[in-house]
Amino acid sequence: MKQFSEAAQLYEKGQYYDKAASVYIRCKNWAKVGELLPQVTSPKIHLQYAKAKEADGRYKEAAMAYESAKDWDNVTRVQLDHLNNPEEAVRIVRDTQSIDGAKMVARFFLRLSDYGSAIQFLVLSKCNDEAFQLAQQHSQMEVYADIIGSDATMEDYQSIALYFEGEKKHLQAGKFFQKCGQYSRALKHFLMCPNTDDNLAIEMAIETVGQAKDEALTNQLIDYLMGESDGMPKDAKYLFRLYMALKHYREAARTAIIIAREEQSAGNYRNAHDVLFSMYTELQTQKIRIPAEMATNLMILHSYILVKVHVKRGDHLKGARMLIRVSNNISKFPSHIVPILTSAVIECHRAGLKNSSFSFAAMLMRPEYRNKIDVKYKKKIEAMVRRPDTSELEEETTPCPYCSFSLPDCELLCPGCKNNLPYCIASGRHMVKEDWSVCPHCDFPALHSQFLGLLETESVCPMCSENLSASQVTKIADCSSYLQPDELEH
Ligand SMILES: [Zn+2]
Ligand SMILES: [Zn+2]
Repeated sequence: MKQFSEAAQLYEKGQYYDKAASVYIRCKNWAKVGELLPQVTSPKIHLQYAKAKEADGRYKEAAMAYESAKDWDNVTRVQLDHLNNPEEAVRIVRDTQSIDGAKMVARFFLRLSDYGSAIQFLVLSKCNDEAFQLAQQHSQMEVYADIIGSDATMEDYQSIALYFEGEKKHLQAGKFFQKCGQYSRALKHFLMCPNTDDNLAIEMAIETVGQAKDEALTNQLIDYLMGESDGMPKDAKYLFRLYMALKHYREAARTAIIIAREEQSAGNYRNAHDVLFSMYTELQTQKIRIPAEMATNLMILHSYILVKVHVKRGDHLKGARMLIRVSNNISKFPSHIVPILTSAVIECHRAGLKNSSFSFAAMLMRPEYRNKIDVKYKKKIEAMVRRPDTSELEEETTPCPYCSFSLPDCELLCPGCKNNLPYCIASGRHMVKEDWSVCPHCDFPALHSQFLGLLETESVCPMCSENLSASQVTKIADCSSYLQPDELEH
């Protein structure tokens, strides 16, 4: 009968809310529609209501109704164009990933000359070309380069690389040529970067060559690192990293030995130790034989580090034993010969190893060392040499883990079976079958009793420097897997 008002009321009474609302809309009773809205399920009715409210200039209600209708692009538009609420619009676009919504947000920021945000939303709306052009026009390429993520195509990367190339921003150009697989061009740019402290360009050049697997590029970078192109050899650690990136472990090992030797002759013993340690573990992981020279050097450097640990803990006998080992290899410590020998004289004397003390004192009397002795000790050392005391506390013996031959604690070459014996990283002594444990981080062996003693005062592993407490160290009953006489090249 076209008696809409009555029909609507009856629908409402019968709780047919969607029908009631749609009839109220026909007779434009918006107040009633609004009242029923919470009970209405049809998005179409919400949408009609939203449009009517928007036409009336009631934007807040319009936005809410668009939201109920799940018409997100209209919500975004009303938030931006009428409610001036970009935060809400941005939130919706991020949640819904709507491309049209992102475009609207981008336009909004563009009007405000906020190019960074505009670029961001153009990328989100997959308008990479427009974003790129905008970045180019407003010198915002870094922003664009940062934002463009995994969705970027090779063409995108190349456009960015070419832009940076034109701007002579070599690091950035290299980075994006690398991303689009143009390795030789990328390397060219990295090698054009000025040498900075962090040497990011060199690191990236190494990464590039590692990815490229191209002999000509590898050689080009090696020449650069060796200084053949500019007469300035770069830090050897880069050569080491390059070989590691190329998985050329043998060359890497050789380079590590050279680096460690340089650190060692400069007196940086901890650095030298750590370089050898990391190389050692790397080679082990790759199941590559460890060069004997590397193993020996690490052992000697580790003994030097243990001297300090023992002396600090007041364990002078163990300190003296390690000083004897270090002093017997004194040529490896060229920048500290006199101070090390002096400590050996003092610590050995103090620990009752008078004969050893005397022999190091005698070494110090050589003309090239004599005048460099600290005046505090000079008279005393000279007196020792004049009146030698050759008494020596005998070193205790323990059995060889391979053949059970009984040999002095700190002896690492077994006279019985001629094996190089594994040494304890806590005490420096040779390992014993019945007292076996390992560091849970680096897997280097330590005498269980000695390790527990050390960890009473120390909180890190002396070999790998990782945090460690006594409770993490357990005794190993069967150490046979650690006893591999052929592991090292003799
Ligand atoms: Zn043996
Ligand atoms: Zn460790």
